[in-house]
Amino acid sequence: MEINVDFLVSGCNTQCKHCYVNGGPGPLMQTDDALACIEKLDQIAAFFPQGMSFTLDHEPMNHSEIGKILYAASHTKHITNYHHGMTTGLGLMSRSDKEAVIQAYLENGYNEFGITLHGVCAHHDEIVNRKGAFDKAIAAARFLSQMGCRVQISLMVNRFFAEDAGQLSRLIDDMNVNDIYFAIPIFTPHAKMMRFEPYRVTLETFEKIRRYLPGWRQDAEEILERARKNSVGEAEEKLQSIDLHSLWTEKQDTLYLSLHQDCMLYVGNSGVETQALGDLRKLEPEIAAEVIRNLPGNSDYGAFYDVENLPGMENVREAIMALPQDLVYGDFPSILYRAFVDLGIPTKLLSKI
Ligand code: SF4
Repeated sequence: MEINVDFLVSGCNTQCKHCYVNGGPGPLMQTDDALACIEKLDQIAAFFPQGMSFTLDHEPMNHSEIGKILYAASHTKHITNYHHGMTTGLGLMSRSDKEAVIQAYLENGYNEFGITLHGVCAHHDEIVNRKGAFDKAIAAARFLSQMGCRVQISLMVNRFFAEDAGQLSRLIDDMNVNDIYFAIPIFTPHAKMMRFEPYRVTLETFEKIRRYLPGWRQDAEEILERARKNSVGEAEEKLQSIDLHSLWTEKQDTLYLSLHQDCMLYVGNSGVETQALGDLRKLEPEIAAEVIRNLPGNSDYGAFYDVENLPGMENVREAIMALPQDLVYGDFPSILYRAFVDLGIPTKLLSKI
């Protein structure tokens, strides 16, 4: 089973509507703690020859001593640091030592960075709940490019794209971008997710942005087909061939853990934690490895809702039929989770951490 630890060294500067994060650069994990946790994860990873990785998250560039942490992260023996490289740019661009920060990344083998765009200017700022965020993201992308980094843009689609597509295209043409990704937000059942629903993309939005997709280096037909397949209107047909109980009891091959700034290790990706495993600094590696080995995978379904609480299929069908049929989600499970919210199905998620 693949194991990944979402390692939160510092907070994020934004409060995206689809994210559970409260926003703000803090709290920071103390540097000594971060180094001790990397060492401890490396010791635990020695018991998992099939591989174990961690991701420095949310916004590591907010950390005052990120260089030391990157050095330790890139010099482990057993565990791999999976660098997702996404940044809002807000932390980086407010630093007086930004060249040194990026130099530290480059020296430790991390040269790819990505920014996510949710539209242009005011629309982007509205989705991420932070005024000026769009300008900082663009400034960061240009700065990273000048520093010799590979720069990627992730276009996270929402209803604003219908209006913003032309400006987004001109912006992309003007920037030195290496790769462009296109993402349709999924739905995970954390408490804040419903804030994003009024912005969720519809099939009509896709029709309006269709002509811009090739310029964003996307296969328009493939994306429109994906959107159609994951629209609410298509979900009813899928329901006829699935059995919720089987989905919930299927073996999952990825286990997500998260490590918070106070060094507490949890089961579940950040934002959807289901169980506290303890203070990583104090865990004995062999015992921790044994506990982790016995955990089931948690990338979907059973990670969020107990099988005992599953609603009846007829109720699910009715809840889905009551949703706007042209809404589009990143995947099919998202539509089930969205319906579960309306049905009041309790989640397994820890509410206070
Ligand atoms: S989605 Fe990413 S950038 Fe947005 S608030 Fe959450 S962690 Fe920060």
